[in-house]
Amino acid sequence: MRFEIVTIFPGFFAGIFENGILRRALAEGLVAVGVHDLREFTHDRHRTVDDRPFGGGEGMVLKPGPMAEALASLGIAPKTERQADEPAPRTRVILLSAQGRPFTQALARELATLDRMVLLCGRYEGVDERVNQLYCDMELSIGDYVLSGGELAAAVVVDAATRLIPGALGNEASSEFESFGVADAEIDTDVEGVPRSQHGAGGLLDYPHYTRPAEFAGLRAPEVLLNGDHLEIRRWRREQQLRKTLANRPDLLERATLSAEDRKLLAAIRRESGEEA
Ligand code: SAH
Repeated sequence: MRFEIVTIFPGFFAGIFENGILRRALAEGLVAVGVHDLREFTHDRHRTVDDRPFGGGEGMVLKPGPMAEALASLGIAPKTERQADEPAPRTRVILLSAQGRPFTQALARELATLDRMVLLCGRYEGVDERVNQLYCDMELSIGDYVLSGGELAAAVVVDAATRLIPGALGNEASSEFESFGVADAEIDTDVEGVPRSQHGAGGLLDYPHYTRPAEFAGLRAPEVLLNGDHLEIRRWRREQQLRKTLANRPDLLERATLSAEDRKLLAAIRRESGEEA
């Protein structure tokens, strides 16, 4: 995967690839990155990238010209031309925007299979809409809040996609068993003997994790995790996933892949919290 990031703050990305999984993925050639300074594509003395909005109102808008030139320099043609000669595009042009469709783990998984991702970072009030119209395959929002620029959002997309590229994580199975993981049916890994859920996360949140010491600040790690009964551990973790999802993200339960046993457990948890209330 090659990431191309267009921004007025190229320095923002200096640290992103210097740590952890991203650093390793870059070192191993699983990903490559180009950070492109939008101001390089201006022609006036002040290297102007923004202008006042038509129709009046607050703030400034990123001009379409420099964005179009930056894209041309990357060999990106307008959408209509690209779609005509490429039926299954391996490149996606993405505009980071608070008005975009929500970025999810499912979308991260889809994007991780591309050859090239071009990320356009807005600033001020945003980017002239014609850039979106002419070039962008997708507008992406990382959440229902407004950031001051697309850079943080681009970094989020880069991080979430990179760790899903085969080989980026040490343990291949680990992205399937975490929060928002894929459903059981999509998993063919044999997890025999491994004290993990035997289900994929199936769209549930992850279970809580504990490490040494067994007792900390007067709190003991759950006994079940200390006694090495793998079946019991799996059951406990699945129950914790259901509890956490019910408490923090009940909306996810509607789409989750649940077994008959899960449903029973969930009913019991609901009854129990109903009794407490
Ligand atoms: N006027 C816009 C906000 C502009 S914020 C609005 O009300 O929707 C400036 C830039 O930050 C945007 O162009 C976009 O690139 C980025 N940005 C802000 N919030 C974002 C979010 N939730 N997800 C992705 N990008 C975001």
